[in-house]
Amino acid sequence: MTPIEALVKKNRDLAFKHATDWLNFHAGFENYLNYIRKEYHELAMHGIKGQGRAATFKTRVGAAVQSGKKIYSSGNIENLSRMEDEHAEALVMKMALMDGCTDPMEYRALALVYGEMVKETDEHSFPACNICRQIIWENANPETVIINVVPTGEIVFAAPLRLLYPFPYPNFSSIPRRLPNKC
Ligand SMILES: [Zn+2]
Repeated sequence: MTPIEALVKKNRDLAFKHATDWLNFHAGFENYLNYIRKEYHELAMHGIKGQGRAATFKTRVGAAVQSGKKIYSSGNIENLSRMEDEHAEALVMKMALMDGCTDPMEYRALALVYGEMVKETDEHSFPACNICRQIIWENANPETVIINVVPTGEIVFAAPLRLLYPFPYPNFSSIPRRLPNKC
């Protein structure tokens, strides 16, 4: 096998593993969601609080993250120039980091709340954008649960980051780590 053939095989095997993981996850989804609803109800409520503080003109997003026993919450911040907008999930990760939560294995879950009201056309189920997934990937861990909450407080979707962010950059084990955890 040439090096290129080996690389093709490695990536194909990874893709197959990812697809298999999703199928297994799908099979147990209802039980998993029920567990998440019980375990992370409080976190979801903090996400709603964060949404209430969103500094925005239009789209209101809230986020809450749990690191160890600590919970941080935030809303998004919009700016008219659009260049400095802060997504709620990115901002809440930065808040936790600034408070010293630098141990990725302490991160448990991140809850996200989109939209103003429950409507079929509203965008309630995006488990973070690509940039935010990267920020979460670099600072939390692959098992961190991303949770979608509707503005009424109900959890409608949850999945671990490793499923939502396949083929991440870089590998989790090769991420350089920051200062010791003080959280
Ligand atoms: Zn984002």
